[in-house]
Parts: sequence; structure tokens; C-alpha cells
Amino acid sequence: MKDSLIKLEINTDNENANNICSMYWKLIDRNIFSCTVAKITEKFNKTSIEIRKIVNDNSSAYTEFSCNSCGLAGKQFYKSRADFLYKYSSNVNHSYVCKFCIEKENEKVEREKQEAIEQENIERERLENEKHTALDEECYKNKKEPFSLENLTFKQIIFFTCAY
Ligand SMILES: [Zn+2]
Repeated sequence: MKDSLIKLEINTDNENANNICSMYWKLIDRNIFSCTVAKITEKFNKTSIEIRKIVNDNSSAYTEFSCNSCGLAGKQFYKSRADFLYKYSSNVNHSYVCKFCIEKENEKVEREKQEAIEQENIERERLENEKHTALDEECYKNKKEPFSLENLTFKQIIFFTCAY
């Protein structure tokens, strides 16, 4: 592989640490590492925990990508081989979306949720108003009932009788 999939930045002048980082992140194929961690521990006489610590402290491994949505170039960093293999194998199409586009998408989803809630409130208010209008109409109809003696109270009858 001429151009390694994993780019590596090593931030140490220590030769051993430098070699450990290089060996740890060296691929022979897109998802096959050139040697096992056990082999590195053996070669440098360190535990796998020590190897991991040296790698984490002295290097950053990443792959370069461009965002599928906006085309922005970005870097996907990896904490460990397992992290790389997991992210690499769970993303076989290498489709990346940058954090700005993820944020934008999240905002859109949030906005749509808010709009749905508002729409629901408007609908509820409309139904509420409809109910009130129906009640008002009912009251109005009652008020407009034709004048009839049957509807009058005894007192009113007396009043009418006296008045005429
Ligand atoms: Zn983007």
C-alpha cells in the first residue's frame, strides 16, 4: 500500500515511542494491521497497556474524508485499532457527514418537531373555538325562542296581568 489509509501524526522524538506508534498503526491492507499488538509488546518488552498508553500519548491516527453533504474536508480520528476497525467496518461506503451538517440536520429535526407542536396547538385552539361557537349558537337559539306564556314564571304572569 503506497498511500496508507490511516494517516499518522507522531509527536515525539523518542525513537522507541516513534517505532511503537508506527508499528501499532501500520496497515498491510485496508483493514488488516501489519502485526499483532502481542508482537509489538514482545519486541519492545512492554505490556499491551503500556503500548496503548505510548500510542495514545504520542500519536494521532486518522483518515481523511470529505463530507457527503457539503464536501468539506475533515478528519476522522481513532483512539485504538478496535476503534478504527469498528468505525471502518461499520461504514463500508465511507460516507461521512461533517459535524456542521450533523448539527444542521439536528436543528432541522428540532425545528420540525417544534412546528408539529405548534400546529397541534393551533388545531386544538381551533377545535376549542368551534366548540365555543357551537355553545354560543345554542345559547342564542334558546334566547330567541318565541315568546310564549308557557315559558313565563308565575311572577312574570302577574306582572303582565297587572300591566295590561
Ligand atoms: Zn458537511
